Amino acid sequence: MSEPVLRVQDLAVHYETSEGGLLRQRQRIIRAVNGVSFDLFAGETLGVVGESGCGKSTLARAILGLVKTSRGRVLWMGQDLTVLDEESLRKKRKEMQIVFQDPLASLNPRMTVRDIIAEPLWTFYPKIARVQVEERVRGMMKMVGLLPNQLNRYPHEFSGGQCQRIGIARALVLNPKLIICDEPVSALDVSIQAQIINLLRDLQRKLQLSLIFIAHDLSVVRHISDRVMVMYLGRGMEVARQEALYRKPLHPYTSALVKAVPVPDPRVARARVETGFTEDMPSPFDPPDGCPFHTRCPYVVKRCQLEVPALRRLPEGDWVACHRAEELDLSISREAAAEA
Ligand code: SF4
Repeated sequence: MSEPVLRVQDLAVHYETSEGGLLRQRQRIIRAVNGVSFDLFAGETLGVVGESGCGKSTLARAILGLVKTSRGRVLWMGQDLTVLDEESLRKKRKEMQIVFQDPLASLNPRMTVRDIIAEPLWTFYPKIARVQVEERVRGMMKMVGLLPNQLNRYPHEFSGGQCQRIGIARALVLNPKLIICDEPVSALDVSIQAQIINLLRDLQRKLQLSLIFIAHDLSVVRHISDRVMVMYLGRGMEVARQEALYRKPLHPYTSALVKAVPVPDPRVARARVETGFTEDMPSPFDPPDGCPFHTRCPYVVKRCQLEVPALRRLPEGDWVACHRAEELDLSISREAAAEA
């Protein structure tokens, strides 16, 4: 197999916060990302899924060097980004861009669409000719399905879906090799979500981009991902091929997420078993010892409370962090898997 373009190894982001009054302050550590590892290959899309607070967005920012990491490495084309100085990292960002969750809030309301899309070009190539910028910006508008006669408008004149197209055009204007989409459709209506996912999928294929697509819902990442990583309390629980993950999850948490996807067909909904969650997700301030999922897992045994399961590779090439992965059969029925 070829070398990955991005290799994330044991990446951690821990924040220190203080609580209490002036006289009795207590320092606490929040482990937002706590030892995440995965590879991403050229032209591949990795979906990243997990509940709110599991560390998905912090992971995205840590990969791009937008937050300080506590340990681990981010190898982009073999170069460790976590040891670069600010200027070297800034240059690397040309190759790695991000699309944000809230399309309107992520665009400067005082700038025209032309200036929003052109800004990264002026920043990285200050001597670039105006005519070249105009040509590139118009090309980007066309590529994302917007009209050149909309270039002089402001973000508030566009719908949410159109604003996200502008955000995508801005992210693509520097010709990056990696795009991280941080919940790019969660603020949009369902019908618009499908349009944006299709657009990203087409662009990814056409431009041979590597994509990390973050969402809190497995059904959203399904149609765009080659592989999916499931996160829980700052850790990767499973990294598996898309088709395998929905049909035969390896981790009890993944299985619960697949079963929790709402389905329109009542017969399929009835055929599903309960997710098995008996507790809320523990606080990242106070994660449980042993397996982080053990307080909610229906298959917990004594070992799970004592030992953190390592993320390990199975013979099929998928990865899982569960002591009992080989002995559990978490297969999902064909009908239910198709609906997830
Ligand atoms: Fe459940 Fe134990 Fe596996 Fe954790 S290690 S997911 S508690 S069976």
